[in-house]
Amino acid sequence: MQIQLLPSSFDAGGSANAAQRLTCFVIDGRVTVDAGSIGIALSDEQRRTVRDVIITHPHMDHIASLPIFVDDLFGELEQPIRVHATEEVIDLLKADVFNDTVYPKFDELKNERGRVMEYVPFQAGKEFRVGHLQATAIKVNHIVPTVGLIISDGNTTVAFSSDTAETEEFWSTVNQAQHLDALFIEASFPDSMEKLARASKHLTPSMLRSELTKLNHNGMDILAVHLKPAFREQVARELNELKIDKLSVMETGRIYEW
Ligand SMILES: [Zn+2]
Ligand SMILES: [Zn+2]
Repeated sequence: MQIQLLPSSFDAGGSANAAQRLTCFVIDGRVTVDAGSIGIALSDEQRRTVRDVIITHPHMDHIASLPIFVDDLFGELEQPIRVHATEEVIDLLKADVFNDTVYPKFDELKNERGRVMEYVPFQAGKEFRVGHLQATAIKVNHIVPTVGLIISDGNTTVAFSSDTAETEEFWSTVNQAQHLDALFIEASFPDSMEKLARASKHLTPSMLRSELTKLNHNGMDILAVHLKPAFREQVARELNELKIDKLSVMETGRIYEW
């Protein structure tokens, strides 16, 4: 399984840099987890092959350029972009994003070959198929309805915390997986800003460490993501100081393979 965290910050010359302002993981060039930078940072090849998008929650950093992605591909799509999310999140996307005010109701529009976008609801706790993958969503502890994900291709299994503060069910479900190859976990704020992290329902490095004690698997790669750009170096330093085996900050643009 190949996973890439798309770049979402660019210098004045157009080159991508390490700061992560938006969230969009591309799996095997076909499926994405969230869609923050999907409309601005996919390769031409990925634009031709990504047709399934899982949305964990409707915060802007996770959906920002999804409307632009569908718009760009409108005329050339031979199958709809499938937006997989809970009913709750789909209702929010319909009300607040694809509402004919902020952007068109793409799920009601067609090109010459058919529909350009469709919503595909899934239920938290129930396994569902997305592209060539099996996924299970678990509700996590964020300020809007949000799910973490466990995703498997039959050989490799990975888990995404999405945005969350302390949570329980996510870890107990991950613990039921036969094995875990990689964990993508958020670390938004430095330890000194724990109050803000708790108010906005995110993790600090210390909170991340205590979350990991709930995990029974070991030996997997742990990739920290969602570091707020303004505090990126500080959070990275604090993560490093935890001295947790195989914990690193995920590099944007790099293709990781398990
Ligand atoms: Zn969020
Ligand atoms: Zn976020």
